[in-house]
Amino acid sequence: MSLTDYLLEAQERQLKELLELLKIPSISSSSKHQADMEQAAKYLADNLKAAGLSAEIMETNGHPIVYGEYNLHPDATTVLVYGHYDVQPPDPLELWDSPPFEPVVKDGVIIARGASDDKGQVFVHIKGAEALLATTGKLPVNLKFLIEGEEEIGSPSLSAFIKKNRKLLAADIVVISDGAMLAPETPTITYGLKGLAYIEVQVRSAAMDLHSGAFGGGVPNSINGLASMIAKLHDEQGRVAVPGFYDDVMEISTAEREAFTRVSFDEKDFATEIGVSATPGEAGYSLLERLWARPTLDVNGIGGGFQGEGAKTVIAAKAMAKISCRLVPNQDPDDISEKLGRYLKEIAPAGLEVTVKDLHGGQPAITPLESPAVQAAAKALRTVYGKEVIFARTGGTIPVVSDFQRLLDADVVLIGLGLETDRIHSPNEKFDLINYYRGVRVSAELLGALANGN
Ligand SMILES: [Zn+2]
Repeated sequence: MSLTDYLLEAQERQLKELLELLKIPSISSSSKHQADMEQAAKYLADNLKAAGLSAEIMETNGHPIVYGEYNLHPDATTVLVYGHYDVQPPDPLELWDSPPFEPVVKDGVIIARGASDDKGQVFVHIKGAEALLATTGKLPVNLKFLIEGEEEIGSPSLSAFIKKNRKLLAADIVVISDGAMLAPETPTITYGLKGLAYIEVQVRSAAMDLHSGAFGGGVPNSINGLASMIAKLHDEQGRVAVPGFYDDVMEISTAEREAFTRVSFDEKDFATEIGVSATPGEAGYSLLERLWARPTLDVNGIGGGFQGEGAKTVIAAKAMAKISCRLVPNQDPDDISEKLGRYLKEIAPAGLEVTVKDLHGGQPAITPLESPAVQAAAKALRTVYGKEVIFARTGGTIPVVSDFQRLLDADVVLIGLGLETDRIHSPNEKFDLINYYRGVRVSAELLGALANGN
């Protein structure tokens, strides 16, 4: 039987099976749902087995991880599919048109918590493998599944799990469907993510707040000083002025520049939608290049001095700012935090004591456009959608992606099968039937495209 015939015949059953998964309220943040978490994990393991893979439920310090496996040949390409079976709490319940864990299929969409994020999108890959195994008798690659139950609470157990099970999880390519395409009917591959370096800077200018009449003109002012430091973080060309900030930056390749120009991105619409009247940034780069592929620095918060009603004539002794940098390969969060901290101390006006605290970091990640993983994903999407594929990067940070790259040395491709309008984390979350069915097909085609002939 052909893949097309099989998928047509299996469509209704594959939908029903997803709906069963969506009925399980696997809310990872609430201990009340412990049994539901276990039930969802078991349901996925059973589905993997029914598709023809082996599967087991592996314990962690938190919610269990579902691991599935199909072995073709030790020399064949190994693909690891990552996803998550936990969901966000459905509150506020009164804003749902139907109960969040009683899936409804209406007007071509499935409405339920987790429909798009991420049960529907990870299930696509189980059903794709099932279809390929059923129609060809075997898969053309080694296939592994890692489906966790803690994504919505920040994946506290995942890094340690990957480190501990490096051999088991070893893969050439990691596929993640846990996001959206750029627009409806716009097959999209995301191949690059920014990293993050986040610091807090505190400045102190005196032992106590001082009267601005008695002391003004004769003492340092923490807020004036901090403001002058912040003003020196960018130069007049919109570049980050921290020495060494760009040292390790991977330049945007000619192929990427070219691919970005094919993205239908209207700068005016972008500005109007978010209510900004200008789109300033680093000179020499287009808006999309800056958003996706150039490192940035932003002050995220600032505080100090009198903020109550009316006037208080005071020279504040203390002020603080929170500053984050979004990083691109191959910048390192620790290195950037250190450089930023050192620079702030250097440029502090006389009389200011500067303390810098490192708050948070995340590694950037990229899979080259010309890698077999990206090329195979593009081929699969082109086959199913009959359209050119958009290659995107994003300013966001997904720690698990860099974990897969660093710990498994695998190429990671993100194939978002949902839409921005799927209302993930919100009431009436949905997943379009067409995106589910097409996704299953994309998954099956992808495995074929990734085969290396062994
Ligand atoms: Zn998700």
